[in-house]
Amino acid sequence: MNLIIGSHVSFNKNDQLLGSVKEALSYNSNTFMFYTGAPQNTNRCEIDVNKTILADELMKKNGINKDNVIVHAPYIINLANDAKKENYDFAINFLKQELNRCETLGIKNIVLHPGSHVGLGEEKALDNIIYALKQILDKKRYTNILIETMAGKGSEVGKNIDEIKYIIDNVNSDNLGVCLDTCHLSDSGTDINDFNSYLDLFDEKVGINKIGCIHINDSMNEIGSHKDRHANIGFGKIGFEALINVIYNERLENIPKILETPYVTKDDNSKERLYPPYKEEIQMIRKKEFNDKLIEEIRNKNN
Ligand code: FE
Ligand code: FE
Ligand code: ZN
Repeated sequence: MNLIIGSHVSFNKNDQLLGSVKEALSYNSNTFMFYTGAPQNTNRCEIDVNKTILADELMKKNGINKDNVIVHAPYIINLANDAKKENYDFAINFLKQELNRCETLGIKNIVLHPGSHVGLGEEKALDNIIYALKQILDKKRYTNILIETMAGKGSEVGKNIDEIKYIIDNVNSDNLGVCLDTCHLSDSGTDINDFNSYLDLFDEKVGINKIGCIHINDSMNEIGSHKDRHANIGFGKIGFEALINVIYNERLENIPKILETPYVTKDDNSKERLYPPYKEEIQMIRKKEFNDKLIEEIRNKNN
């Protein structure tokens, strides 16, 4: 089967998309995902068209189909809460501009966290998201927004199929789709070992054709924990086999799979980032062979 796999990569002001492509190629990826600036703020630079042209050439040369490349919106954007009108309006405006930026870059899909209600309650949160998305997608767009399935950490919404369905149905735009995240799904109570049952339900309620991206992450925590802490592939509670079965599920062929697994740290208790293990994780996925010594080996090599 045609495997479209990559990871989160960086995007910096100087090299822009060209730098992101180079990083993706260094991991033997055939797709990738990036934030157009820092994930935790909304400062964004001007897009340099010359860098985009060079990036396009490099992708073409290496068989990366740009349609499979994903942007992730900054995670501080919260469309669910309108308690501070200026923040809510800012979020809507920022996303309109982010869509423009993606269109300038030629990127087809942008992943967005639906948001957190922060005390407003789920119903109001969902209606705020719908109202905002309707304004953002008020005209036909080249770039789609994919709302991500969330772990249900804190007051996050979009943590089950019904909430996702409610948003998709009410916004009712061809430019709106869904991004599944295996860590979030497990943390929200979905059994990844029985992924076909989840897909049956998703197809019945939302439609598999709405899935535009899948984040492949293991989880540090048990199913239903609502914690949202990603683990390296095979090193968490979901496990290698279950993730391989998602990646190679024929119903999900042609959908880009993106790793957002953590950097290897100095040791288990350290937060000091040592090395991004994407190349090695992608190799395990391509071979369908788990190396339970991977983290240890990387630490030995880099410490
Ligand atoms: Fe995300
Ligand atoms: Fe994710
Ligand atoms: Zn997450």
